[in-house]
Amino acid sequence: MTKFSDLALDPRVLKAVQEAGYETPTPIQAQAIPHALEGKDVLGIAQTGTGKTASFTLPMITILGKGRARARMPRSLVLCPTRELAAQVAENFDIYAKHSKLSKALLIGGVSFSEQDKLIDRGVDVLIATPGRLLDHFERGKLLLNGVQIMVVDEADRMLDMGFIPDIERIFSLTPFTRQTLFYSATMAPEIERITNTFLTGAVKIEVARQATTSETIEQALIEVTPTRKERSFADKRAVLRALIRAEGEACTNAIIFCNRKMDVDVVAKSLKQHGFNAAPIHGDLDQSQRTKTLDGFRDGSLHLLVASDVAARGLDIPAVSHVFNFDVPTHPEDYVHRIGRTGRAGRKGKAFTIAVPHDEKHVTAIESLVKQPIPRGSLPEGFSLEDRPDRPDQPRAERPARNRRGRERDRGERREEPRIEAPEPVAVEVREERAPRREERRDERRGRDRDRDRDRRDDRVVGMGDHVPDFLMRSFRIPSLSLVEDDDAPAEESVEMVAGEGEL
Ligand code: AMP
Repeated sequence: MTKFSDLALDPRVLKAVQEAGYETPTPIQAQAIPHALEGKDVLGIAQTGTGKTASFTLPMITILGKGRARARMPRSLVLCPTRELAAQVAENFDIYAKHSKLSKALLIGGVSFSEQDKLIDRGVDVLIATPGRLLDHFERGKLLLNGVQIMVVDEADRMLDMGFIPDIERIFSLTPFTRQTLFYSATMAPEIERITNTFLTGAVKIEVARQATTSETIEQALIEVTPTRKERSFADKRAVLRALIRAEGEACTNAIIFCNRKMDVDVVAKSLKQHGFNAAPIHGDLDQSQRTKTLDGFRDGSLHLLVASDVAARGLDIPAVSHVFNFDVPTHPEDYVHRIGRTGRAGRKGKAFTIAVPHDEKHVTAIESLVKQPIPRGSLPEGFSLEDRPDRPDQPRAERPARNRRGRERDRGERREEPRIEAPEPVAVEVREERAPRREERRDERRGRDRDRDRDRRDDRVVGMGDHVPDFLMRSFRIPSLSLVEDDDAPAEESVEMVAGEGEL
């Protein structure tokens, strides 16, 4: 078996790796590092959790150990699809480069340009960036890319999902032909293949684990739920989620709960909080400091349940997650593999529950054909039934538990105000005062509801088009003049919404 000491890495890097507690290189590391150290281009087909970050960071630090940084001309570049992933790569870099005197800068949205400019002006060995923010700096004339010797593209398939491929192509064309490229993707979509054929030269292709494999250390269960009424599906799923978490008891040390839409991420997190759970949301609309605070809390154990969208959670390295709950069945089958891969990592045991309603059948079938096995069917927790839930807002009054005046007000409000939409949980409507609302308040409320409904519509990816939306319609169109205002590191659908929402606030 290959040892780190066999890999011709700089002794300072070896020392840092040893201090990190790594004993043997992972397969992607053992295979990619020797080629990367020889200066070859590498095409790594690997997903997060395989040790891919160290597979490019360790040789980079070794190669960059010789030579010095020049002002505004970074010597290497790592491109990541999301801020969180970029921040995580930067953290890894700090660990592995702690004995090497290399400088780095992290260019991500939500951080002031002036701080980042100062670092770049001084000269950096490693620049870790999201594509949008990198191009913003370039266009402001603060950055030159013709000194880049090594360029890494991490999670290229997610870049494709987020509409970043044109940016990546542009960045490639701004770097020297002679650069070395280390390119990572979990899948090889035709578009990714095209990019690698265009920009990589004589690349060594390394594939470590098929994308469609689910770890054997993960116990999976599909919980099929038939909603009491079609329009109550969302509320019933929330009740099932709570019951599942409660039934897991202490075994659930922490969990990530995935929703398909970021609007639902918020509602599910609020609902859980309302029911006494320690939960917080993470998605692209939250500001950076909020996202960082939430993630730090989840990592240090002060936050128990992280409710997330796929994009926000993608690539996050949270080593010990005991449970994953798919509040929604993912519509892209690969996302199922990514989601449940958040648990059962590094040989630990994990559990993944997926809540499915009859409408999800075709997505469940797609997942099962991707992973080439059925997802084991699980049952609702013992003693739980959707029919006789005491907290159902549509139960007859006599059967419902006594509530305080405020709670009753809310319920009345829900039924009166939203007759056609499923009754949201108390969390969705806040009645602050008991007096009747004034006319202007009623008007504001009505406008708010209209706005929410509009936002819902925008949030739905495929409104009115079924699953046959032509690919070009799903791409984002960037308006350069808005790029400084908004977070163009966020996924296309999110940034569009945020730009649109800006004027409303
Ligand atoms: P990544 O796929 O880069 O997100 O890495 C997943 C996790 O594996 C991270 O927590 C790393 O710290 C850890 N890791 C990376 N390489 C090794 C190794 N050789 N031995 C043990 N853990 C590792």
